[in-house]
Amino acid sequence: MQNIVLFGPPGAGKGTQSQKLIAQYHLVHLSTGDLLRAQITEGTTLGLKAKKLMDEGLLVPDEVVIGMIGDALGKNQQAAGFIFDGFPRTVAQAASLDQLLAEHNTQVACMIALEVDEQELVKRLLERGKTSGRPDDQDESKIRRRVTIYNTETAQVAGYYAAQHKFHALNGIGDIDGIFAQICTLIDQHKPAQAEAPVAAIREVKA
Ligand code: ADP
Repeated sequence: MQNIVLFGPPGAGKGTQSQKLIAQYHLVHLSTGDLLRAQITEGTTLGLKAKKLMDEGLLVPDEVVIGMIGDALGKNQQAAGFIFDGFPRTVAQAASLDQLLAEHNTQVACMIALEVDEQELVKRLLERGKTSGRPDDQDESKIRRRVTIYNTETAQVAGYYAAQHKFHALNGIGDIDGIFAQICTLIDQHKPAQAEAPVAAIREVKA
């Protein structure tokens, strides 16, 4: 499995690049934001609770998103790998992801961060808010709160992966295809080693 964490503040372009990566690498896209919005659309108890926090630009509790990711991993055991988008957002979530992936005998290959300054993020999200219908995209103070939470809580996750020598940052401002090409180069550098031939097959060759 090849598991990629796409990282960056709200509005950095993670969703856009994820769509291009799915097409290129046939990975399963796991966006906690999308999973939570699906719960809201279905009107589940979890969705109703999450909506209040999301609309204010606050984080949903760790155990909620970790549970959703655990379920999604269990349902996609045949996947070639995953693109994690919007997760992990806290160090506790990152540690849980390592544990969950280890249970599936796999791990994070690399984290790729898209760096974009706050002024550009606010501009992009207000623009997206005109069509996304998301309350958290339509109010500048909520957008700035999300960016602040990213800077205070989420940015620490970069250090978690840097300690594992898996962290890479790219400039998220510029041509979408150009940024995509740089992401692909990094992913290709982190291809998991070829699986060893099963012992039985080796014996057969020797015999
Ligand atoms: P964006 O990256 O543009 O903020 P997302 O769709 O990733 O959009 O997330 C929207 C909201 O969903 C977040 O502001 C937060 O309330 C909630 N959320 C998504 N992922 C997580 C997570 N991993 N941990 C906690 N809350 C999350």
